[in-house]
Amino acid sequence: MLLFFVVGLVVHLIFFASIFDIYFTSPLVHGMTPQQTLHPPPAKRLLLFVADGLRADTFFALDEHGLPRAPYLRNLIKTKASWGVSHTRVPTESRPGHVALIAGFYEDVSAVAKGWKENPVEFDSVFNESMYTWSWGSPDILPMFAKGASGDHVFTHCYLAESEDFAAEDATKLDSWVFDHVKAFFRSAQSNQTLLRKLHQDKVVFFLHLLGLDTNGHAHRPGSREYKDNVKKVDEGVKEMVTLIEDFYGNDDKTAFIFTSDHGMTDWGSHGAGHPSETLTPLVAWGAGVHHARENLVLDPGSTEWNLENWRRLDVNQADVAPLMAALIGLSYPLNSVGVLPVEYINSSNLFKAESMLTNALQILQQFKVKMAQKKQTTLPFLFLPFSLLSESKQLDIVRKARSYIHGGNYKEAMELCRTLIDFALEGLAYYHTYDRFFLGTSLVVAFTGWILYVILIIMKTNPSIIRTSSSYTGVSSIVLQVMVLRFLVQLYCFV
Ligand SMILES: [Zn+2]
Repeated sequence: MLLFFVVGLVVHLIFFASIFDIYFTSPLVHGMTPQQTLHPPPAKRLLLFVADGLRADTFFALDEHGLPRAPYLRNLIKTKASWGVSHTRVPTESRPGHVALIAGFYEDVSAVAKGWKENPVEFDSVFNESMYTWSWGSPDILPMFAKGASGDHVFTHCYLAESEDFAAEDATKLDSWVFDHVKAFFRSAQSNQTLLRKLHQDKVVFFLHLLGLDTNGHAHRPGSREYKDNVKKVDEGVKEMVTLIEDFYGNDDKTAFIFTSDHGMTDWGSHGAGHPSETLTPLVAWGAGVHHARENLVLDPGSTEWNLENWRRLDVNQADVAPLMAALIGLSYPLNSVGVLPVEYINSSNLFKAESMLTNALQILQQFKVKMAQKKQTTLPFLFLPFSLLSESKQLDIVRKARSYIHGGNYKEAMELCRTLIDFALEGLAYYHTYDRFFLGTSLVVAFTGWILYVILIIMKTNPSIIRTSSSYTGVSSIVLQVMVLRFLVQLYCFV
């Protein structure tokens, strides 16, 4: 009986562990070649502002007096910026949000088992691909991008976690801390030749992580005066930073700016789930290489509630921000990025746009190829079923055609073809990622059935009366049998 119990326990532990093998596997692959557009990029440097926990509606909507909550940024939307809603995915947490924005992929689910804060797997990011990145903000966010980076080129300036108390009374101090330190940094650069030289190189990124809104939202809820006042503070800070950078670089018009948020927040001050208040975040981009505001020929009913129906709204998925940043300053696209370049944000030649889309397509295709090769290697040859929509000849054919369209000046057709290639490659990546799921699930169901039959056999052996008299079915053994069958059906239902 003891042996039976031990075997039972082991079988169930194996089944339990198999769930992680089936559902919690990392989508990331390694070994791709970096892809970069060879044409000169429109910007030399990029400033990324992430207002942690800022909801799209609070940011875009006018206040009760009909005034904008972020007047500076709203004015940009109407003049020199492209804007839209960036749609995030669940879990709507800071870490996955930043990974999507900066590395271009949706958080590795295997991170669940390893905790969200640490870097569970090595991944490439816009910061890693940059020449230099300087970042300011929370110690919960910045280090994970510095740790994953190769070489000493991603610099972090964090307040100490334990000294976040300095903002206990007023969370906007978390944001003022960042703005003040950026100002001090550029002041100190004036007398530091080495730093000055680095700052004047191409492909430089500045990242300002602003945690005030998230903290105020948790403490006072997004409908509070504190949260809304914080939006204004952030807006003023962004304005100051833009002036600072433009002055520092002598108004060379070579800086691109992106303002967004990692996730939103519910009315009751929480986030993590998939409610629109959590998944809709603002995106405003302007500066070098970004398209200025465009008026709608037909009013957009989706933006009426924000009184922005006159201005063209360009929604993106959160991971699309990574290739946008890479294209603007001419970086290699982050290797694991699944973001699709939102080409309408870019103000450059059609040739540059088409080449950038092709680079994006090749970079995602690289992942598809590596993933397919890996799957092929771990599957018996006669059991391997390749993804039918993107055979090797089809890949070659699409790439060749896209290149010839570009050479012939048919940029629109080239971009459409690249988009098709990206869609196929992403579909193929999902195909190979879930390739074993059916096989593993079926094995699990078969194993469970076998185990239940085995248990039934043991019960019958130890209670032969069950077979002899049907009346004994009212006994304990019958209840056990019924529970087992019920359990099996539930298991089957859960799997399906
Ligand atoms: Zn939060």
